[in-house]
This record gives sequence, structure tokens and C-alpha cells, in this order.
Amino acid sequence: MSDRTSLYRLSPDIICFGHRGGTIVAEGGRMRPILLNASKDEVSEILENISSISPFCIDDIKNCLPDSLIEAFIESAVIYDVHPNQSKVSNPRRITEKPEHVSLFLVLNQYCNLACVYCLEGKETYEAPARREMSFEIAKRGILSFLDLLAPGGHLGITLFGGEPLLSWPTILKILDFCKNAVGNDVNGRTISFAMQTNLSFIPEGFIEVVKENQIYLTIDVDGPPEVQNRLRPMKGRNSNSFDRVKMSIGTLSEHGVPYMLRCTLTSLNVGILEEVEQTHASLGSVEPTELGLLRPVNSDGFVFPSNLMPGYNDIADAITSGLDRNSSLINRYVDRYRDRAGGPLDWKHGCNAGFGLLPTLTYDGKIYPCTWFVGNKELEIGDLAASPIVCEEAVRHVENCLHIDHDPICSTCSYRGICGGGCGVTRVLTNYGQGSPLKTVAMDQARSMQCAITKTLTNYILSEAIEKQLSAENAF
Ligand code: SF4
Ligand code: SF4
Repeated sequence: MSDRTSLYRLSPDIICFGHRGGTIVAEGGRMRPILLNASKDEVSEILENISSISPFCIDDIKNCLPDSLIEAFIESAVIYDVHPNQSKVSNPRRITEKPEHVSLFLVLNQYCNLACVYCLEGKETYEAPARREMSFEIAKRGILSFLDLLAPGGHLGITLFGGEPLLSWPTILKILDFCKNAVGNDVNGRTISFAMQTNLSFIPEGFIEVVKENQIYLTIDVDGPPEVQNRLRPMKGRNSNSFDRVKMSIGTLSEHGVPYMLRCTLTSLNVGILEEVEQTHASLGSVEPTELGLLRPVNSDGFVFPSNLMPGYNDIADAITSGLDRNSSLINRYVDRYRDRAGGPLDWKHGCNAGFGLLPTLTYDGKIYPCTWFVGNKELEIGDLAASPIVCEEAVRHVENCLHIDHDPICSTCSYRGICGGGCGVTRVLTNYGQGSPLKTVAMDQARSMQCAITKTLTNYILSEAIEKQLSAENAF
């Protein structure tokens, strides 16, 4: 119930779009939609009128809105008490604050046997000519150090990453062996799990048994049918056909009942054929829904990829809409993520948890970065195994600040920001917000546009779905 004496404000984050001849209105962080029997222009005018008198008492807006709508606007947080007691939390616990979960990326090597056209690893930052490789000693110290940063009972997810991690198979075997003992002896009940991101163009000896025994969660990149995969993810050397090799390896996994997930990085080459991509994955034996990776327009050196590789806003929105129509498991997976965000406790000010140091990336020299894209970037380094403590709180706060949505001139005023967080901050940081060259400006615009297409299409879908549920519940009485 509204309090006649309290002061209220109109939320700056109002999502508004047409539905069933009326207009859906929702507060972007709270996501409790209302369907108004008025056009979008009429609703915008009402909201502008209210905004012009903020802050206000309820009696001040009685001329703009009927009582029933005032209650509905308060209920949905479209207008809110200036002293709200129900706000969402804006930060998870940082790496320096004993978090319960950390995802540690071990960059086991910095070279690969594929030559993907959109590879994140820049020649300079990943020191390609030097073919860097992590020693078991560094991996071991890293794992022990990050276990120490966890809360009692916390969980360390370790992703075996490269380059191509399978090219460091002997080191992987030592790490897995060591972790069995490290966890078995942990008095604080902390646990470890393993994941691996691999191109799986070959299978080393003993792989199947080791993956099964250690329950390693495999993510394998297959971007579509052979002509798409071989163009985007060719082998190095004369025979560029990676598809047949990956197909053979995946066949071996399926034959031995090893679970895995296939991932497709969305580009202009496959955005229009997502159904075919899913069919390709199914034909390879995949039973899990396909994971969708979003292409970043730059690599870790800040090198800008050809702009015609990036899918446009409408291409992505159309692909999502058609996926929703055919009940695609790939798109449903994304819908679930946005549903979780809508119902979750976080007010998203970042696109991910890298800004809180929760995805630390360890390299061969013991340096720690906030994510794999920032490897080799001195300004964004957050720690060093040789230092004490290994993670520098000031450096984490610097990265947190760099990746904060309020630094983006467009995202900071967008009404979807509370559910979106602005998406991945890599392109923002590595192009300095699109400054310095026309190529970087285009890259920044494309990165934002791809994220906008996903957020807006899925958010509007979830809000419309909630309204439809309300309507059918009302009709049931
Ligand atoms: S900053 Fe971007 S690339 Fe890095 S972890 Fe976050 S979403 Fe992923
Ligand atoms: S990426 Fe798009 S939807 Fe997300 S906050 Fe920025 S402008 Fe809004």
C-alpha cells in the first residue's frame, strides 16, 4: 500500500514496449511487468510527466494516474519510495573477501594447433613466438594459493585452458594427481572441480579414462557444419580441415559415454543457420544443449577483427526469435539465464564476475589477470604468485572500476542495464571505449549492439511471458 506522506521517485530504468495493442511497463532491475491499455507514446508521456515532478508525494501524481495504477507502479518498483528497503545487492564477494566460489583459469600453454580467425589470443600479449608453457610447479602453487582465498567449504572450479590445453597433457596429469591429495587433505572442506576448453582435434593417450575419473567438464568448439567450422576454426598448416578431426574425437567420447558440451561462437557466418548448427551438433552425438559464445570484436592485443565477421543486431534478434518459436534448447538455455538474473539478488553493474577477481587467470610466469582476454596486459594485472598477498586488492578495485557499466556512456543510461550489466567489458577496455581509431569505434559499437540484441530480445520475451501468465491466471477465475 502506498504511504501518502512518503516521497517517491520514478525509476530511471523503465522498460517500455508494445504488446497486445497495449504497452508493457517494467522496472529494469526488478522485472515485474504491468500491461497498460495505452500506446507506447501515451505511456511515455505519462512517465515524462511524473519524472518532471520527482520526488513527489502520491497526491502529486493523482492527476497523472488512477489509484489502481499508482499501487501497481509501486508494486513493480516503477515508482519507489526514496528510502527503499528492498534494494538488490550490487556486488558479489570479491576475491579478497573470502568468496565461496572462484573459477580459476590455468593458461597451461600459449600456443595452439588451430588458427581460428577470431582467436582471443593476441601475438604480443600471449607472447606467441615464445611458445610459453606453464610448469607443474606454478600450477600447483596457484591452486593451493587460490584454495586459501576461499571461504571454508568453498569451491574452486579449475578450467584447464590454453592455447590448446591438450598440448600440455603431461602437466594436466600431474595437476589432476596433485589435486586428489590437496582436496582430500583440506581441513576446511573446500572442493575442486575441473573443466577444460579444448578444440579436441586430437585425443592424447589415456584421455577417456582420465576425463571420466576426474569428471572433467569438456567444452568443445564446433561452430557449425564443415564449411563453417573449417573457415572459422581451420587447422594450422596445409590441411585446414578441423571438422573431420573433431568429429572423430567426439565420436570417441560418445562411444565411451563421456559427457561434453559443444559450443558455437556466434558470427555472421552461422547466425542465420542456428538450427543447422544444432542439427550438426546433434549429428555429432551431442545430447546437451549447444552453448552459444558471443564473439568479441577484438583480441587480447586490442587488434580489431574484420567487421563483416560480426553478426548485426537484427541478425541476432531474428535468430533468437526463431529459436524461441521452434523451442530451441540452445536459446532456452539463454532464456533461463536471463530468468535467473531477473529473479536473482544482484543488480547487474558488470557483465560478469571478472571485475571482482572471481575468474582469475594464471599464466606461466605466476602473474594473475582478471580474465583470459587481459593476459599480458600490465595495467590490468591483479596479482602475482610471488607477492604476498598474491592478489592485490587495489588492483582488483581498479579492474572493477574499469568494467563498471557507469563508464559506458550508452549502457549507463539504458533501462535494461540492471539485467544486462552491459555485457562483456573486454571490447570497452581494450578499445578504450572505441576511442583512438575508426576501427575501434566500429568494434565498440558492434560489441554493444550484439549484447543489446540478446538482452533486449530475451528480456522483452520474459516480460511478455510473465504478462501472458498473469492474463491466463486472471481468465481462470
Ligand atoms: S570480461 Fe568478458 S571475456 Fe572476460 S570473463 Fe567477463 S565476459 Fe568473459
Ligand atoms: S549492452 Fe545494450 S542492453 Fe545492455 S546495458 Fe548496454 S545499451 Fe543496455
